[in-house]
Amino acid sequence: MVDLYNPTPEHRQLREMVRAFAEKEVEAQALEHDRTETFNVALHRMAGELGLLGVTAGEDVGGAGMDAVASCIVHEELSAVDPGFCLAYLAHSLLFVNNLNVNGTDAQRQKYLPDAVNGRTVCGMCMSEPGAGTDVLGLRTTARRDGESYVLNGAKMWITNGAISKTELGDAFLVYARMEGAGRSELTMFVVEKGMPGFSLGQKIEDKLGMRASTTAELVFENCVVPADSRVGEENTAMLCMMRNLEIERVGLAAMSVGIARRSVEVMNGYARDRTSFGEPLNRFGQIQRHIAEGYAEYMAGRAYTYAVAGAIGLGESGNRLDTDGVKLFCSTMGKNVADRAIQVLGGYGYVGEYTVERLWRDAKLLEIGGGTLEAHQKNMTRDLSRRDKLL
Ligand SMILES: Cc1cc2nc3c(=O)[nH]c(=O)nc-3n(C[C@H](O)[C@H](O)[C@H](O)COP(=O)(O)OP(=O)(O)OC[C@H]3O[C@@H](n4cnc5c(N)ncnc54)[C@H](O)[C@@H]3O)c2cc1C
Repeated sequence: MVDLYNPTPEHRQLREMVRAFAEKEVEAQALEHDRTETFNVALHRMAGELGLLGVTAGEDVGGAGMDAVASCIVHEELSAVDPGFCLAYLAHSLLFVNNLNVNGTDAQRQKYLPDAVNGRTVCGMCMSEPGAGTDVLGLRTTARRDGESYVLNGAKMWITNGAISKTELGDAFLVYARMEGAGRSELTMFVVEKGMPGFSLGQKIEDKLGMRASTTAELVFENCVVPADSRVGEENTAMLCMMRNLEIERVGLAAMSVGIARRSVEVMNGYARDRTSFGEPLNRFGQIQRHIAEGYAEYMAGRAYTYAVAGAIGLGESGNRLDTDGVKLFCSTMGKNVADRAIQVLGGYGYVGEYTVERLWRDAKLLEIGGGTLEAHQKNMTRDLSRRDKLL
């Protein structure tokens, strides 16, 4: 029988390796970085040494050359212990590394990816702006050609890995902008590095509800001068890069929710077996059984949908929006609800840090917003479904 979640021996080995790393190294630091709202750069470098940062990147740049299922495996396993660290992992490994691996030239891949893959750099992707999120084509960052350079002006908001501390920028970013005078859907993408003139950290955003182990920042481009060979793809054609990358991002985010749900089921199951009330284990009460059994079934449904979609898509493809939005729509709310069930089963103990589920619940909420809101998925999916009479 085909194992949907580990279709080859390499996938199974990857899962075992990441789970061991997550349980030994990631778990130990998760609560501390949530409390202090700090990104663990040393752990990021360790993930690089293990080959996780380049799991989908080409072997010629030091990557493992694996597929979307492998990416899901890493996201599920890391998120089961620390969704905040995993969000930073996603921004680096999918939004930057995989994006550039798919859309960049060989020269750009060779310049940026070896350092990104081994963890020497911390990278991300800049799409959202203070005034444009869901309406991403409303972005206002501009680019203008000036001899052998481009000049960028604008601000990007909510950028994961934008800062690695309160004052220090991340290392390199894929930035979507619009050439002056270009049409609404005519976007152009650039790699912008720390140190390029006019590129600065606006602010590190503090007091997030969850995902506090990842940093979020506003980045500013003020007459920012970028060499012409930092343009990724042709002018005005980056919409396709964005669509390709959003699809794989959404599958990765869905896998994060699956990890949150799995951990939540494990926690409530163990607790309800051990804790007694009125002289009986909690799991003898029907209302508690409902949380455990329904939570498990919801988790399994989301997990099967996620891995089925991941197994069907290529990393450089687009055109799978219905189901890449679909897994994110279903799993993000599923993960949040299963974490909520776990808190309820644990009562007061669920409400504090010791049993992890309060952190998972706070982290889970972001997945209904980042990488596309629930409402954006509903809109996209209804549009795609309206073109079909019959479903496969
Ligand atoms: C922690 C965190 C990390 C992030 N990381 C990144 C990153 O690394 N890179 C990046 O580019 N972005 C990132 N984002 C941004 C994220 O993708 C956006 O927050 C998201 O796309 C929503 O945009 P918005 O916040 O501007 O909300 P808005 O688009 O203003 O939406 C507000 C509300 O209105 C609803 N809405 C808007 N338009 C419609 C419509 N047509 N129909 C119905 N409802 C609508 C939305 O669904 C939402 O409920 C991050 C955000 C957070 C919070």
